Amino acid sequence: MKKKNRSLSRKAQRKFLDLIEGEDPEKCWEWKGSFMREDYPLFYGDGKQEPALRVLYKIYYSDSLTKNWVIQHTCKNRWCMNPNHIYADRRDEAAKEIQRGRRRFTRGERHPQSQLTEKDVRRIRREVLEKGRQQKELAKEYNVTKTHISNIVRGKAWAHVK
Ligand SMILES: [Zn+2]
Repeated sequence: MKKKNRSLSRKAQRKFLDLIEGEDPEKCWEWKGSFMREDYPLFYGDGKQEPALRVLYKIYYSDSLTKNWVIQHTCKNRWCMNPNHIYADRRDEAAKEIQRGRRRFTRGERHPQSQLTEKDVRRIRREVLEKGRQQKELAKEYNVTKTHISNIVRGKAWAHVK
């Protein structure tokens, strides 16, 4: 018997289902078990602990839930234990979603990755457009790529800075 992805024993499954309160398939079901740092439902069964949502998914949908999948809710209630309200999502897709959400807040210098300030951007444009400085020189000076300098000069990057 493989230890990995071992399915839950009958006893553990019964214990698990006893910790869920709810009958109406439309409504959210409550978790009466433990929580990890009061944050996400955690289940102890068969001598190990596992996020309860993953156990829920394994019992109702598929035993072979690998680490590449995260459990998401359709009901926005992250503690909900109604199997009708959950689905498995690829971890990388979920990560992309988070990035997409973040992108709204990451314009210009508020972006943590950005080494440039708005003042730098104005100066870069002036240096190139008015003084004819070489873009690769400025790239070196500011430690960014030449493409990035070119995008700044053409207004493709930092378009909001005039
Ligand atoms: Zn729900």
